[in-house]
Amino acid sequence: MLLRLPESVSEAQECMAEGAVPIGGATLVWAGWQQDGFPAQAMSLRNLPEANVIARGTLGSAVVLNRIDDRVPEVLAHAAATVGTGAVRRTATVGGNLVGSTLRCLLPAALVLDARATVLDQDRVYETDLAEVLAKRHLLLSLHWRDPLTSSYRKLPGEAGGPPPLVVAAAVRTGDGGRNRLHVAVRDGYDVLTDSVGCDAGSDEAIDSLADTSIGTLEPAAWGAVREHVTHLLARPVSR
Ligand SMILES: Cc1cc2nc3c(=O)[nH]c(=O)nc-3n(C[C@H](O)[C@H](O)[C@H](O)COP(=O)(O)OP(=O)(O)OC[C@H]3O[C@@H](n4cnc5c(N)ncnc54)[C@H](O)[C@@H]3O)c2cc1C
Repeated sequence: MLLRLPESVSEAQECMAEGAVPIGGATLVWAGWQQDGFPAQAMSLRNLPEANVIARGTLGSAVVLNRIDDRVPEVLAHAAATVGTGAVRRTATVGGNLVGSTLRCLLPAALVLDARATVLDQDRVYETDLAEVLAKRHLLLSLHWRDPLTSSYRKLPGEAGGPPPLVVAAAVRTGDGGRNRLHVAVRDGYDVLTDSVGCDAGSDEAIDSLADTSIGTLEPAAWGAVREHVTHLLARPVSR
C-alpha cells in the first residue's frame, strides 16, 4: 500500500482522483485491511494545513483527538476527551470519528454547535451540513461554527461490550433575532436526536418546551439525564 501525504488541496484532489482511500489514524481500518487486504493507495491529510487547524470556530479533520483543547467549545473538547482510551485518542482523528466510526461521540457536540463542514471533491472545495457529509461519506477537511454562549457534554458510564452509553450534548446560542436558544443532541443507542428550544425564560420553561420535541420521546431514564444536564447548563452565568 502506498501512503500518500498531500500538502495542498490540489495534491489531495489528485490523490482522490487516483483512488487513494482517506485515512485518519487507521485505528478502525487497520484490522479490516489486515483481514481483507490493503488498498493500493491510502491518503492521510496530516500534512495538509487546512485539515490540521485548531482555532476558535474551526477544527481540522486530521486533528488527533487528544490535541483538542479549550481553543474549541467545552462541548467539543469534552466529547473528544471521552472517546475510547488514551491510546485511541492519541491516534484517532476528527474525520475518522465523525465520518468513519459508528459511535461518533463527536457528532452530538458538532450538532449542538450547528457546525458546518468543509469538504473536498475531485474538482472543488465546498461547505455543507453534517447530515450530508455522513450520508455521502464526503472527504471532510474541517468543521466550522460560531462559538456558543456556553456548552457542555456528558457521557454516561457504559458497560464494556454493552450498548453505547447515553451521550447528552447541549449549547446555548444566540439566534438571528437576538434571543437565546438551547440546542440539545442526545445519542441514544446508535441514534442521535437533536432539537432546540428558546431558553430566555429559564430552565423550567426550556425543559417543558423540550418535552414537546423529539428529545421528549426518550425513555424516562434518558429523559431524566437530559433534564438534569439542561438544568445545570442553564444555571451557569452566561455573558453575551
Ligand atoms: C478501543 C476503542 C475504543 C473506542 N471508543 C470510542 C468511543 O468511546 N467513542 C467513539 O466515538 N469512538 C470510539 N472508537 C472509535 C474511534 O473514535 C475510531 O477508531 C476513530 O474515530 C477512527 O478514527 P481514525 O482517525 O483512526 O479513522 P480511520 O480508521 O483512519 O478511518 C475510519 C474511516 O473513516 C474514514 N475517514 C477518515 N478520515 C476521514 C476524513 N477526513 N473524511 C472522510 N472520511 C474519513 C476512512 O476512510 C475510514 O472509512 C473507539 C475505537 C477503539 C479502537
